[in-house]
Amino acid sequence: MVTPHTDRPLALVTGASSGIGYELAKQFAQHGYDLLIAAEDAAIEQAGRDLAQLGTRVEAARVDLATYEGVEQLYGTLASLGRPLDVAAINAGVGVGGDFTETDLAAELNLLQLNVVSTVHLAKRVVKDMAPRGQGRILFTASIASVMPGPYEAVYGASKAFVLSFSASLRAELKGKGITVTALMPGPTNTNFFHRAGMDDTYAGQVAKRFNDPADVARQGFEALMAGRDRVVSSSLGTKIQGAVARFVPEALKAELHRRLSAPGSGPMKHN
Ligand code: NAP
Repeated sequence: MVTPHTDRPLALVTGASSGIGYELAKQFAQHGYDLLIAAEDAAIEQAGRDLAQLGTRVEAARVDLATYEGVEQLYGTLASLGRPLDVAAINAGVGVGGDFTETDLAAELNLLQLNVVSTVHLAKRVVKDMAPRGQGRILFTASIASVMPGPYEAVYGASKAFVLSFSASLRAELKGKGITVTALMPGPTNTNFFHRAGMDDTYAGQVAKRFNDPADVARQGFEALMAGRDRVVSSSLGTKIQGAVARFVPEALKAELHRRLSAPGSGPMKHN
């Protein structure tokens, strides 16, 4: 349990049980932050114990952020700590891969609840607390997918376009008010993401993800957040080039390139 009487800053990280979120939490722990971490499953408790080994105070919340109640429960836990929040890393997210004519509507609506609705909901709560204090940093995990159409991940791509737009808008609104907003835009990264999205047979899920390590993604996200940057495409040079070039490539060509990475069966290993 995080105790109220400490002068260490406090960071909230959602989706911190694995992948990019876990590595983000590690960055904060290594830089002297106490932590409130959240995820849906029991693994968040073990993540909390592991992060505490770094000498930080960790509160782990097991909440389903794809529900209104789950977000309120997390905010209640935050409020119960009785401490100001210095950083919110709103990172939890899932994908759904496949042909839109065949993908599961319930899974896609859950994706929208988590990636979009809970992002807005949690941001509303933390921004309203940070604004009167005139202090705070917010990191949204968007994606390089935010700047391109996402065939075979159509709902996911649109959700991340929302996150990037939302992040940029909040940043502009909060300019000069002591609160910075940064969008983290990873390329395909080696986490559970693709397996969970049903994309083990895709080029992105077999090959492309190997170019970006979640620890590198998180380090670059942390550095960009601390520098108050608007966005960071991470982490490999290839991914950064892709992010820069995307500004000039027509949407139809970006869609075609994305299709080749994400189409079912596009991966070279056919046994999966
Ligand atoms: P990951 O390892 O699968 O992590 C996802 C995290 O979100 C886990 O901690 C998971 O916890 C949590 N989560 C999922 N559903 C939740 C729910 N309903 N309530 C609370 N927590 C929930 O994948 P990742 O790659 O690190 O993903 C982190 C973020 O990066 C996501 O927003 C993703 O869209 C984004 N991103 C990933 C990539 C990539 O290629 N990996 C690229 C760009 C952006 P539970 O297991 O407990 O559900």
